[in-house]
Amino acid sequence: MEMDCQTKIIVATGNEGKMNEIRQILGGGDICFSSLRDEQLLDVEIIEDGKTFEENAVIKAKKISGITGQMVLADDSGLEVDYLDKAPGIYSARYLGEDTPYSVKNKHIIDLLDGVEEEKRTARFVCAIACAFPDGRTITCRGTIEGRIGYEERGTNGFGYDPIFYVPELGCTTSELPPEEKNKISHRGKALTAMYQELQKEGILRS
Ligand code: IMP
Repeated sequence: MEMDCQTKIIVATGNEGKMNEIRQILGGGDICFSSLRDEQLLDVEIIEDGKTFEENAVIKAKKISGITGQMVLADDSGLEVDYLDKAPGIYSARYLGEDTPYSVKNKHIIDLLDGVEEEKRTARFVCAIACAFPDGRTITCRGTIEGRIGYEERGTNGFGYDPIFYVPELGCTTSELPPEEKNKISHRGKALTAMYQELQKEGILRS
């Protein structure tokens, strides 16, 4: 899609929710953001075989930057449960099968933690964001939010593992927060804010 802007950044996602969040945090100025849908690149096959969130984000960003010759942002995120040796981690989306409903995945995690005391139920959402530049250089930023695995699903907002991700300081799960409140404290929000600062240092976003 042709857009009237000074600098274009492609975001390697087809997810409109993520695009909105990225526009909210990084938007303004002369930058415009274009999704894989806008670029008609939704069908590009990307093999995410990295061992860390950062590696997977870099793989996605570099792949799309290689095809388009443009600056590309990509993210990778997931849930780490300490008692499960940080599973599901980078496999969060694929955990128990890509198409398995999250009600099943969440119940499974609750069952695995049956009888586990409060202090050992620690978990975090992690988000890595990578930026790939046309010259092949990459930078990455990470954001996290700490919490505990709850004893039952609670809340109707959000997606994925939100109903079992309890934030003690707030006294609720991330699924019980309005979206704007979650964005303010979320792993993705923090990683995007860190990337905003990096892109300012690069002179791409205005200070
Ligand atoms: P992706 O990085 O969009 O592929 O997300 C990976 C997976 O991590 C998602 O499919 C969810 O299972 C999980 N996940 C990442 N962020 C969140 C979140 O904010 N809430 C709930 N689950 C999340």
